[in-house]
Amino acid sequence: MSCRQLSQFLSENLGDLKTKGLYNVIDPLQSANGPTIIIKGRELINLSSNNYLGLATDSRLKQSAVEAIQKYGVGAGAVRTINGTFELHLELEEKLAKFKRTEAAVAYQSGFNCNMAAISAVMDKNDAILSDELNHASIIDGCRLSKAKIIAYKHSDMDDLRMKAEQARNLGAYNKIMVITDGVFSMDGDIASLPEIVDIAEEFDLITYVDDAHGSGVLGEGAGTVKHFGLSGKVDFQIGTLSKAIGVVGGYVAGKQELIDWLKARSRPFLFSTSLSPADVAASIKAIDLLSNSTEQIRQLWENADYLKAGLKKLGFDIGNSQTPITPCILGDEIITQEFSRQLNAEGVYAKAIVFPTVPRGTGRIRNMPSASHTYQMLDTAIAVYAKVGRNLRVIH
Ligand SMILES: *Cc1c(COP(=O)(O)O)cnc(C)c1O
Repeated sequence: MSCRQLSQFLSENLGDLKTKGLYNVIDPLQSANGPTIIIKGRELINLSSNNYLGLATDSRLKQSAVEAIQKYGVGAGAVRTINGTFELHLELEEKLAKFKRTEAAVAYQSGFNCNMAAISAVMDKNDAILSDELNHASIIDGCRLSKAKIIAYKHSDMDDLRMKAEQARNLGAYNKIMVITDGVFSMDGDIASLPEIVDIAEEFDLITYVDDAHGSGVLGEGAGTVKHFGLSGKVDFQIGTLSKAIGVVGGYVAGKQELIDWLKARSRPFLFSTSLSPADVAASIKAIDLLSNSTEQIRQLWENADYLKAGLKKLGFDIGNSQTPITPCILGDEIITQEFSRQLNAEGVYAKAIVFPTVPRGTGRIRNMPSASHTYQMLDTAIAVYAKVGRNLRVIH
């Protein structure tokens, strides 16, 4: 017999989500997560994945993964500190460091895990963290785990950050103070004001931490937001994921050698969770090699993103202030947004509705993720479908 309080908790809360229309029904894929996908037997143009460069289905990455499986098997067999570190892991970390223009890097099982690992490895209850209010959930959780005082500042508001940094310093109550931000904000596609953040950090002696999950492989010739702004060497922590533009799974922290040595000695997901599988590592190495040798896929990504943005804008849609390929189509009303996504799907386009509480109330949107592997024909079809659904729902005229 199960606990009555648990059953009550679950049925009440699930019921609540369902009556509010917030219960997300997950559509399983019956194909690879490419520029088109198959769901319920129907082929759809896919505008929802983070597979920016199309590498998730790249034949060269697949080949590397297969070879690694043949040589090393499917599982790493242990955590990194026991005998789960293969030469492959070190090769990946060396390549990542070079790619990010840092002294060293350490790989984790996911980007989420990087934030679980890195923040609490250096911050504690005597410290404070200045955190952008729109930071990713994993940053928020990582900050909480550290037990440091969390001070949110208004999204990309540098006056607010400066004021709060000054207050925190003058209070004299904290040992270390960190400023932490997404490099690219995932729901709007805007880029953090890193030059100003670095200036403020220098002024008030703050640790700088940039989670560049959506910037790596996209900005700065792939090296990310820090390189994009010419700030290599000026940011203490650079987090990246291997699951978005790199197309595989995993994450990494890049920074000074001493920092990486410390994370390998003290960060808990490194010490207590089994390392990345050989196939994941080999495929990621191949991806980094490809991006180090050619920026063609990145160029194609931006060209496709510009094309989609221009098409939606010309139709009269509000595409927000994105500075990156992330292309929101802001509709406002939550019910209209959900219905819009449903009608796109019925017309052959898979693009998810993002509504409160993921974004503020009244700013419901369809989030479009163009990639390097979409063809112009696919994008033209998607734009035509947007025109049809937009007129149907009287969002455009
Ligand atoms: C997606 C994302 C993550 C999580 O990365 P995974 O590798 O999918 O775990 C972490 N931080 C930010 C800012 C992200 O956008």
